[in-house]
Parts: sequence; structure tokens; C-alpha cells
Amino acid sequence: MDKPCMIEVRDLTKRYGNRVAIRGVSFTVAQGEIVGLLGPNGAGKSTTMRILAGFLPATYGTARVAGHDVARESLEVRRRIGYMPENNPLYPEMRVVEYLRFRARLKGLRGRRARERVERVLEQCGLTEVRRRLIGQLSKGYRQRVGLADALVHEPDLIILDEPTIGLDPHQIRSVRELIKSLAGRHTVLLSTHILPEAEMICHRMLILWDGQVLAAGTPAELEQRLSADHQVLVEVAAPEAELRALWAGRPEVASWEMTPADGGYWRCWLRAAGSEDLRPLVYHWVRERSWPLRELTRRRYTLEDIYVQVTARQEQDDERGEEEEGEW
Ligand code: ATP
Repeated sequence: MDKPCMIEVRDLTKRYGNRVAIRGVSFTVAQGEIVGLLGPNGAGKSTTMRILAGFLPATYGTARVAGHDVARESLEVRRRIGYMPENNPLYPEMRVVEYLRFRARLKGLRGRRARERVERVLEQCGLTEVRRRLIGQLSKGYRQRVGLADALVHEPDLIILDEPTIGLDPHQIRSVRELIKSLAGRHTVLLSTHILPEAEMICHRMLILWDGQVLAAGTPAELEQRLSADHQVLVEVAAPEAELRALWAGRPEVASWEMTPADGGYWRCWLRAAGSEDLRPLVYHWVRERSWPLRELTRRRYTLEDIYVQVTARQEQDDERGEEEEGEW
């Protein structure tokens, strides 16, 4: 059975005056998932998150959290959400433990439960040793953890984290990522980042935002698969050049190929499939039939970076084309 839906965003649009920050954004997030909003500066990540957290009204469209409309049932929604904005405002003159108790109270926790929850998040976020320190005297990494502890203190179903690792050193980044990963299952997490390897490391699924629109969505593997409609296979085989060329040319499954000589009499060949079929078993069969030595047969794996560049480059081309067409009017 499919997991219940935690976030449902439909056709969300936000205008700031004449500027359209997001347009027609739609996506869903299932309970327990960690989903990354990925995109360059200004893509609309913060805007989407602020609308979901009930801090900003949408111009058009709907957003629901655990079935509640974020605009019309904002109290219900806020109880279920822990939101860490970018540049989280904290009270520098408060001590860590005081601040978290204060935040817990604001979020409706009282007495023993409040104390227990504060102790739990102090521990969970690695803050126990700095519990009595003034927030203003903490390093950026620790302040970020205080922000996370605040987002977690009322045990929200949904945690929304805007650029949770920005400005941290590599060690701090690692511990914050581990912490986020440990939340999966019990909590649903929506985080934004413009760091691709980060999304790949932490997230089950990603949404690529560009200029206020969702360009692609899926698990890293699905995104990879989608782009591998353009399947490419690398073959290193030792064979007479003319026969090898004749082989690739004579196969309808191979749409195009490139060959370069490699060491030891081998040829390095990049083959592009005509359809969505994986060429590897076929190539293996053809080469074996001819008893040619084969030393490499791999499918090109797309990194998230390739995907990102491909998707956004396509969009840039479309945008440019659109501008040219507009110019002709
Ligand atoms: P970043 O990674 O830089 O935080 P982002 O993906 O979070 O970027 P947003 O902050 O959502 O993007 O901004 C989307 C667009 O909306 C940008 O063009 C931005 O300039 C614009 N924008 C954001 N906030 C406002 C505002 N308060 N008034 C006017 N324009 C705004």
C-alpha cells in the first residue's frame, strides 16, 4: 500500500509585485520521505517552503500538509511543522537550553513533557555540552544545530529545512546530514539545497526547480533512468577496424557510435542505443560470436550533476528560443 501523503502542492504560484517567484508548482511528498528541493539561487526554493510553512500566502494554487490547507488551517499546519528558515533568527542573549524551553512553550509543550523533549533534542542535535552557553557565542555550526533542535522540539510530522548546511565547515556538514538522515521514517523532511551531492546523499527523492518551475522530479535512480533514454554504452574491444565499423553500422539497435583507438590494439567505442533497450547483453553476444577480446562493457552512468546540467541547459535553450520568438513579433 502507498504511504499516506504528507505534502500536496498543486499549481502553486507566487508573485511579488510583477516578479513571478514560482509558477504552477505541483508535487507530493509521502509520509516518512526525505525530499530535496534543488535549484540555483532564485529558483524559488525558499518561496515554496515559506508558503508550506504558512509564513507566506500563495498568489494562486493550493498547498496541503497532512490534509490541511496551509492558508485556511494554518494553526493545524503549524503544529505539524518544524521549520528552519535560511538565516534562522535566534536570540543571541539567551542560553541554548533556555531558548529551547522558550520555543517548546511557544509550541504548546508544558511541564514534564516540555523538559523531556528539550533534553531529547539537546542530545539528538549534539548540544548537551553547550546547553548553558549563550547562543550569540556559539559557532555557526552549533547555531545551526540549535535551529534544528528548535524545528524538532515539538516532534512535528513534517520538518522543513531551508539550506540546512549552508555556511558550515565539512565536519559540521557531515554531522547535520547524519542527523537529517536519522529523521527519515518517523518524520517527513523537505529540505532545500543547491549542492547536488548533498541531495544525493540525504534525499530519497528530488525536485529540480528552475526559474520558479519544477523541471524534473524523482529518485536519483529515476532521474538517471529518465535521461538514460539516451542510453550510452562504452565498449573496449580488440578487433579489426573495418569489421568493427561494419558491425555497429549493420545493427539497427545502434543509433550512432564513435570509435577511437586505444592501447594494445583495442578500440574504445561509445554506442548510443536506438531505443530504450540496454545494449550491453547484445554487444556481449556480438563480440563473443566473433571471439574478439573484450575488456570493458559499461553503461554510462549519469551523475546527478550531469542530470542537473542537462535539464537546466534544455530549459535555458527553450527560454532563449522563446525570447527570440518573442523578439520576432
Ligand atoms: P536562494 O537559493 O538564493 O535562496 P531560492 O531558490 O530560495 O534562492 P527564492 O528566495 O524563493 O529563491 O526567490 C525566488 C524569486 O523570487 C527570486 O527571483 C527572488 O529575487 C524573488 N523574491 C524572493 N523574495 C522576494 C521578495 N520578498 N520580494 C520580491 N522578490 C522576491
